This record gives sequence, structure tokens and C-alpha cells, in this order.
Amino acid sequence: MAAADPQLGTGRKGTSMKIGWIGLGNMGLPMAANLHSAGRGADFEVTAFDLSPDTRRAAAAQGVPTAESTVEAATGADVLITMLPKGEHVRTALLESGALAATAPGAVVVDCSTIGTADAVALSTVVTGSGRRFLDAPVSGGTAGAQNGTLTFMVGGTDVDLDAVRPLLDAMGERIFHAGETGAGQSAKMLNNMMLAMNMQSTCEAAVLAERLGVSAKTVIDIAGVSTGDSWALRRYYPIGGAVESAPSSRDFAGGFAVTLMRKDLGLALDAAAAHGVDAAATTEVARRLDVLADNGFGLLDFSALVRLVDGTVTGTESEELR
Ligand code: NAD
Repeated sequence: MAAADPQLGTGRKGTSMKIGWIGLGNMGLPMAANLHSAGRGADFEVTAFDLSPDTRRAAAAQGVPTAESTVEAATGADVLITMLPKGEHVRTALLESGALAATAPGAVVVDCSTIGTADAVALSTVVTGSGRRFLDAPVSGGTAGAQNGTLTFMVGGTDVDLDAVRPLLDAMGERIFHAGETGAGQSAKMLNNMMLAMNMQSTCEAAVLAERLGVSAKTVIDIAGVSTGDSWALRRYYPIGGAVESAPSSRDFAGGFAVTLMRKDLGLALDAAAAHGVDAAATTEVARRLDVLADNGFGLLDFSALVRLVDGTVTGTESEELR
């Protein structure tokens, strides 16, 4: 573990770096588990909290030390990492619960959630105003990337602060991009997810049509995967079950990246597009389809369940309009 930053725990003689973790959902738990494992061979220790007792039990079962509150997880932390659904949850966990105030002076707060760029900048102002430091560090790579420690981090903030936590990010990811100043990580992530959503919609349409034309999923993936139709959605997240074992479609769309979370990201993209005079027509349409899924009770399924509107298996007033 690098001890480059004298303000953090490894720089204080005889102490290990303390890491507080808040949010142990589909992404947070495997990330925290990887970090905890890496810490055993280095000089840092993780203490994690989630509002859900079941989730805390799942973390404990994986050997991740847990706390009973956000403040307990954050107390004395040199680094506090949040992995929560939306900006409002990060604000509640950090500010309203008192977690920020409980961290060590000079602590680095690393928000790995996907939230709005403006929200990240506003949080950074409060965090730095309290004498701590802030990085927005959203991730890409899905739950498989979180489990395998192969995530991509997109970081906004200063070089110095990124270098201070780089060994931690290395324990959870394969690539770290310094996107720019505070908020730039969130902007990069929002752009990525905008493209992912549309790649998924187009893959759903081609996948269902392939079935009806009698072309196997394997043939589609083998050919398009090395041709101009290639995408991550095609090769790693094929929306029809059985084609890609690790894809959520192969487990009835359980786990993965929830419809409601992708809809949140497209909302951020549409706000940014409107603010900058960009005609984001396809983004608007995919956002509408995600709303239909959520309105029909499928908000917690993985977003590749978009295929259910394409193949017509989701029924309901709004979804019938789509056919
Ligand atoms: P999730 O809904 O599975 O997990 C969120 C967790 O946060 C839940 O366990 C919930 O109990 C907990 N939580 C909410 N408020 C809390 C609070 N105040 N204090 C403590 N815990 C609280 O979400 P996820 O899929 O893990 O995604 C987390 C973030 O990562 C989101 O911003 C999402 O957009 C982003 N993301 C997700 C994926 C993915 O594939 N799932 C990929 C990249 C990025």
C-alpha cells in the first residue's frame, strides 16, 4: 500500500489506513469485498455499512467488517467511499447522517456512485469546506466487473487526491482515468451510459429479430462481435438468456443494473443535453421505454429487460402503445 499522502493513516507511524464504506448493493458489496481482501495484504482496514440489515449480513458472511451506522463506519476514516443509488442518497449519507464530520481531518471522500455533475461539484464544496477532500469516481464494468475487480474508474478531482487513493482503486479496478477537475468523472460516466443504453436498445431489437429469422444468438454475437455492430451490450450483456452465461438475461434479469438506475442516468443525460442544446432523440426514446418498464413493475430488473418491450412480453396500456 502506497503511503504517499502523509495526511492519511499509513503516513502516521504505527497506524493502518482506515477506510469507511457506505453502500453494499449490487456493486458496493463486491467492490468492498475486493478492497477488504486487498487490505489484508497491505496496511488498511475496511468498515462497511448499508441501510439494509440483510445486505450487512451478506457482507459479514463474505468477511467484510460491518458497522451499525454510517457514522460508525466513517468514524476516524482516512478515506470514506460511497456507493449509493443517487445524489440524494449520497447527500443524506454523508451530510445529514453526520458521516463526513466523523471522518479524520484531511480525509478523502470518494464517491463511486453515478450522480449528476452539478451534485458532485456541490458535494465537493461542502466536503472541502469541512477540511476534507473530494473525488467523484464513478465506475463502469457492471456487477461482473465489480466482482472480478476489473472496473474502470472515471475520476474528477486533483492529481494529488487521486494519487492518495490510487492503490485502493487499483484493488477494485483495472483502469483508472483522470477525467479532469471535480465533476468530470460524472460527466464521463453519464456519456458512457447514454451510449450503453442505446447500444442495449439496438441489441434488443436485433436479438429478437434474429430469433424470429432463425439466426442463433451465438451466430449474431460471433459475427457482429467482430464487425461494425460490435458493442459491450452485444458481447457481454446479450439480452436473451442462455447466450452469455454471466449476463443478467441468463438469470431472469435479476441483479445487474436496475431499470430505475439506468433511467436516472438517462435523466442526467437529458438534462445535460437540454442545457447544451443537443437533440438527444434516441436517449429520449430509451428513457421513455425504461419508464414503461418501471410503470409495469419491472423497475428492479436489469435494464436489459428492455427486450421485454421489444418482444412484446411486457403488457400494459403504455407498453401496448409501443408495439
Ligand atoms: P443498489 O441499489 O444495488 O445498491 C445501493 C445500496 O445503497 C443498497 O443496498 C441500499 O440499501 C444502500 N443505501 C441507500 N441509501 C443508503 C444510505 N443512506 N446509507 C447506507 N446505505 C444506503 O445499486 P448498485 O447497482 O450497487 O449501484 C450503485 C451506484 O453505482 C448507482 O449510482 C449506479 O448507477 C452505479 N452503477 C451501477 C452499476 C451496476 O451494474 N449495477 C454499474 C456502474 C455504476
